Amino acid sequence: AKHQGLGSCIYSPEQDENRADRLSLVGELHQELQNPRNLCIHYQPLAALPSGNAAGMEALLRWQHPVHGPIPPDEIIRMAEHTGLIGPLTRWVLVTALCQFRQLLKQHPDLTLSVNLSAWNLQDPHLPEVVSDALRQCELPAFSLCLEITESAMMNDPVHARELLNVLSDMGVALSIDDYGTGFSSLSYLKLLPVDTLKIDRSFVMEMLEDENDAIIVRSTIDLAHNLGYKVVAEGVETGEVMTLLAALGCDYAQGYHLCRPVAFDEIQAWLERYSG
Ligand code: C2E
Ligand code: CA
Ligand code: CA
Ligand code: CA
Repeated sequence: AKHQGLGSCIYSPEQDENRADRLSLVGELHQELQNPRNLCIHYQPLAALPSGNAAGMEALLRWQHPVHGPIPPDEIIRMAEHTGLIGPLTRWVLVTALCQFRQLLKQHPDLTLSVNLSAWNLQDPHLPEVVSDALRQCELPAFSLCLEITESAMMNDPVHARELLNVLSDMGVALSIDDYGTGFSSLSYLKLLPVDTLKIDRSFVMEMLEDENDAIIVRSTIDLAHNLGYKVVAEGVETGEVMTLLAALGCDYAQGYHLCRPVAFDEIQAWLERYSG
């Protein structure tokens, strides 16, 4: 009951029919974490505006299942959350992504790596230790890492979240509020958190040229966020026109298919060669 309201769970009725499938998937995920064969990480760059130069990249989990094909990452995360695998999975993502990222640092010393956290990770008192172990193992300074936490995850258990985020922030890790605008949170509360960046949810960005209301929301979010001292990332930037408009509105960073889709590590390396100012 503690985690009620964190989205649908794997026991929803339509999925109940596939219960045996699901249970075997859980077992397979467990195995993948011991010995990853089909689990990997894709990367999507973040570009500074207006230059378009690479500023960082986000790690996005991928599971290419040999029978079921690609399993959507939110589904993997939900499954892991409900079966006690979220801790090990998050640790695997952190270590794997940081160690790959490490290989880029010599050529691209100013880039940061963003990794997504689940709401359930915020309930884990060992999280700061997991993060610092991963940084040490990959020989990276804390400021190379940005942790993305959804607005709703931060609001789920605010007092607890605040304590944990303070510890992470004191370590030197950057923190970003993901999917901003979808969580109905009060900025007066969010301001109490040691967060540097807001990521405007892609649902507002994708159609901001067609939908006047979306454009108004994005524009006022950028202004408000700047007045409160945040940097702003717009996600879901699918066209050059939207990117130009965001730059004109003073948005700090853009991320989306227009710049680059999430791609395997080799491809992100190639992309960076072209777009690092
Ligand atoms: P998110 O953190 O909001 O990640 C952005 C999602 O938007 C990604 O979906 C990305 O592929 C997609 N995207 C990027 N640019 C565009 C665009 O221009 N247009 C559109 N329509 N979509 C775009 P993806 O990779 O399917 O991931 C979905 C969600 O799964 C993520 O949303 C995140 O919440 C979760 N997720 C992925 N990897 C991890 C992970 O390692 N840990 C945790 N806890 N969650 C993860
Ligand atoms: Ca994210
Ligand atoms: Ca997001
Ligand atoms: Ca999202």
